[in-house]
Amino acid sequence: MFQTTLKKPVQCSGVGLHSGKMVTMTMRPAEENSGINFYVTTPQGSQRLTPRPELVIATGLATTIGNGSASVSTVEHLLASIRGLGVDNLRIDAHGGELPIMDGSAAPFVLLIKSAGIRRQNALRRILRVKKKFTHSSGDKSISVEPYAGFLVKYTIDFAHPRIGVQKMSLELTPESFGEVARARTFGFLREVEALYARGLALGGSLDNSVVLDESDVVNPDGLRYPDEFVRHKILDFIGDMAMLDLPLQGRFTVSCSGHALNNQFLRLLNENRDIYLEEVSLGGAAALRKPASAPEGGKVRALPDSLAAGV
Ligand SMILES: [Zn+2]
Repeated sequence: MFQTTLKKPVQCSGVGLHSGKMVTMTMRPAEENSGINFYVTTPQGSQRLTPRPELVIATGLATTIGNGSASVSTVEHLLASIRGLGVDNLRIDAHGGELPIMDGSAAPFVLLIKSAGIRRQNALRRILRVKKKFTHSSGDKSISVEPYAGFLVKYTIDFAHPRIGVQKMSLELTPESFGEVARARTFGFLREVEALYARGLALGGSLDNSVVLDESDVVNPDGLRYPDEFVRHKILDFIGDMAMLDLPLQGRFTVSCSGHALNNQFLRLLNENRDIYLEEVSLGGAAALRKPASAPEGGKVRALPDSLAAGV
């Protein structure tokens, strides 16, 4: 299996969730083995920002990655689309500090990537395969991963709301199956949305880019895109959050009631202990690029910094 990039540059503009202002994003083809890189406008000029679990600096309203003076927010749905469609190498120029929220789903990004076209490159695809079971939990939220040749996620949510309740879904991720979650939109509760507006946050949030629920029902006049749109969106977010590594991750994930913060904690721990849990594999057949296992089996998992351990 070979690495891929886009055939040509593509651009989109739209409202930023945080600022409410128009922001623009351009995706460009990138060379083999360069991975996914953002180029963010800063007062010092354009600065490269490569997604990594430890560069996730906020997960509240949307996922933000940052390093020094450069940051970019609302990256999760684009990163999910890139992984979902199997694009390995890409340059993303972002102006305005955040990506456009579009309709709150990944569907506009899928359309954009497909309109550019995906081009096969000459180097073999490299992935990170889970080689040992790893579980991380916090209260009633948990994520567990086991070795698996592919990306399979079984997700359960349980919200005490009449329109949500318990929802379960399994997805074996392929460019085709990604369509089952790509259209599912971000959701939030009216009381939380009103609190955000009162604090001058989420200025770009509206019923055009999120599903909003009051105490008993969905507020959006057009209702839901799927009865289980909520768990579908959680899987979409999970795919995006797991795309923060340098290479695509493979494993069988069992996720219960997680969100961006726990997803990020899980990925940080997995990555900080990658000698124990991950192996780099080239998807070309026999040649596996195994790293020497420098940590002993059952080695200790490094603790999280306090600032993240408290995340919701
Ligand atoms: Zn989302």
